[in-house]
Amino acid sequence: MTRRLFWEDMYAREFDAKVVAVEGNRLVLDQTAFNPRGGGLVSDTGTVDSARVTVVVKEGDEIFHIVDTPSEFGAGKMVHGVLDWDRRFRVMRMHTSAHILSSVVNGETGALITGNQISHDESRVDFNLDNFDRDKMSHYIDRVNEAVRRELEVKTYFMKREEVLANPGFVKLANAMPPSVDILRIVEIGDVDTQADGGVHVKNTREIGKVVGLKTENKGKSNRRLYFTVTPSVF
Ligand SMILES: [Zn+2]
Repeated sequence: MTRRLFWEDMYAREFDAKVVAVEGNRLVLDQTAFNPRGGGLVSDTGTVDSARVTVVVKEGDEIFHIVDTPSEFGAGKMVHGVLDWDRRFRVMRMHTSAHILSSVVNGETGALITGNQISHDESRVDFNLDNFDRDKMSHYIDRVNEAVRRELEVKTYFMKREEVLANPGFVKLANAMPPSVDILRIVEIGDVDTQADGGVHVKNTREIGKVVGLKTENKGKSNRRLYFTVTPSVF
C-alpha cells in the first residue's frame, strides 16, 4: 500500500520517496503527496525528479503516477516529488466549497448531490432539484460565502467503522462507504458539514477566499448543475 502523505499533511508540496515498481509509464512509490483522481476530484500534477507527472490514479490501495519519461526510473531508486502547488491549493479550496454548497442546498431543499467534478479552474455540482435558476444560485452562493466568512475550522480524523455506526449522527456516513472499508476518514467543516471523505481540503474556510457562482444548467429531469469557482479576494 502506498503511504498517503496527503492525508498526514495536506500542505506537503514536496516529498522524498523510493520507487517500488515501474509498470510501463506508471510509477509506484512507497509514499506520495500526490492526491490521485477520484471522488470527483482531478488528480494532482507535478514532477518526480525530472519526469512530468501528468495524472495520478488509484487502484485499490496502490497509487500510480503516470510519467512522461519512465525509463529514468527503476525499483529501489530514491526520488523527489514536487506538486504543482497552485493547482492543488485551488482544488483544496474548490473541494471545501463544494461541501459547504451541498450542505446549504440540502439544508434548504433536501436535494442531494448526484455528481460533481472538482477542478482547479472551474468546478460543478449536480443536484436532484426541480426548481433552480440564477436567482436561486445567487442565494445559495451568498449562503456559502456567509459560512466561509465565519472562518470555520476543517477537521480531518479517522474512525473505525463500528465507532461510526455507534454514533447515530454518523450512520449515513458509514453507509456511504463500501463495507470493505474498516477505517473511515471523516472531514468536518465547523458546524456546517460532516462527511466520510478521502479528498483534500483547506484547514480553515478563510483560505477559500470567495466562492463565485458561474452558471446553472438543466441536465434533464430533476438534475440541475451549478458551476462555480473561487477567487482569492479577501472580504
Ligand atoms: Zn469531498
